[in-house]
Amino acid sequence: MTTDAAAAFAAAFGDTPDGVWAAPGRINLIGEHTDYNEGYVLPAALPHATRVAARRRPDGVVRLYSAQGDGQVTSVVLDGRAPGSVPGWAAYPAGVFWALAEAGHAVGGADLAFSSDVPTGAGLSSSAALECATAIALDELYGLGLDAPGRALIAQRAENAFVGVPCGALDQMASSCCVEGHAFFLDTRTLIGRQVPLDLPAVGLTLLVVDTRVKHDLGDGAYAGLRAGCERAAELLGVPALRDVAAEELAAAEEKLPADLRPLLRHVVTEDQRVLDTVAALDAGDPRALGPILTAGHASLRDDYRISCPETDLAVATANAAGALGARMMGGGFGGSVLALVDSDRLEAVESAVHAAFAEAGYGAPHTFTATPAQGAHRVG
Ligand code: ADP
Ligand code: MG
Repeated sequence: MTTDAAAAFAAAFGDTPDGVWAAPGRINLIGEHTDYNEGYVLPAALPHATRVAARRRPDGVVRLYSAQGDGQVTSVVLDGRAPGSVPGWAAYPAGVFWALAEAGHAVGGADLAFSSDVPTGAGLSSSAALECATAIALDELYGLGLDAPGRALIAQRAENAFVGVPCGALDQMASSCCVEGHAFFLDTRTLIGRQVPLDLPAVGLTLLVVDTRVKHDLGDGAYAGLRAGCERAAELLGVPALRDVAAEELAAAEEKLPADLRPLLRHVVTEDQRVLDTVAALDAGDPRALGPILTAGHASLRDDYRISCPETDLAVATANAAGALGARMMGGGFGGSVLALVDSDRLEAVESAVHAAFAEAGYGAPHTFTATPAQGAHRVG
């Protein structure tokens, strides 16, 4: 893939890059829709990554090419470019230039060629991988001196303000800050995190990802609506964010909310607790305890947050029936990927059961692969 990015660079710009950087996609063990409620998350980086071959330009011009894009080189003159001015996929990397300039960094032009094996739109954060690869390349090309969380915040700002997606900090913090062999326990309020060792194969366990390859349309509007609902609930409860409602205060807090906001509160408060329980189980050397927590997290997303869909429900139910220790949908909802914790010797049985169930239901074939925690954004060439 390093060579893929360099080859894409040669094809697009007819030359060699100054360097090649990579930023991974991610899974999230638990902690879904908690980031914009200032709560806890527990991602790990995937071996799948977006590589960027990059070279400085002296003239303030940005040229962008992706082997997975539209086949075109997009040229952007940075001066005065407003959010919304760059169409299509190129808005993500262009947004990183914009966010760096907005934050006062002396970033100039560059030629960037991307090559990625992160599935897009699958809840595995291909957008963050694209942004974080751009951020680390520019940081190092221009000697900006950012650290990994600093690059993540620039990337999040690009997605929020330039692309126009109101995402929380989970995806970019994961892609930038994860460490190989670990899950990253992050408090999204303080942005203070801790690397939690995660070597599941050593204890005979495997994380299976089922990319359902479906993305139902209601996803985009629903996300903004859920976010607004959470903000409204926090306002009614008189707290800065739903993260401030403790698990033991949940029942009393629910009483103070209108019926439509109660399930949102319930999901966020119980999900934060599930992150804490998971970290405690991993710290105690009991990774099998993660199984029931995953399945409880799925039920909460399905029944309270109501963002699951028939395909993700089927993947979870089938994996569990075939012997997984637990499973849940990940990401924004209405499709995307499911994460299952399985005994390594049950992996094939679970995978083939999921494929068979999808065929039986008349769904398209899912894409299944195992996830071993990989390294966050770094230079590769
Ligand atoms: P996710 O981040 O879960 O994969 P998003 O909807 O947030 O889903 O981001 C997917 C979008 O990001 C794609 O539609 C595309 O515009 C852009 N994208 C991600 N990776 C690439 C890439 N390597 N090349 C071109 N565009 C990409
Ligand atoms: Mg994304």
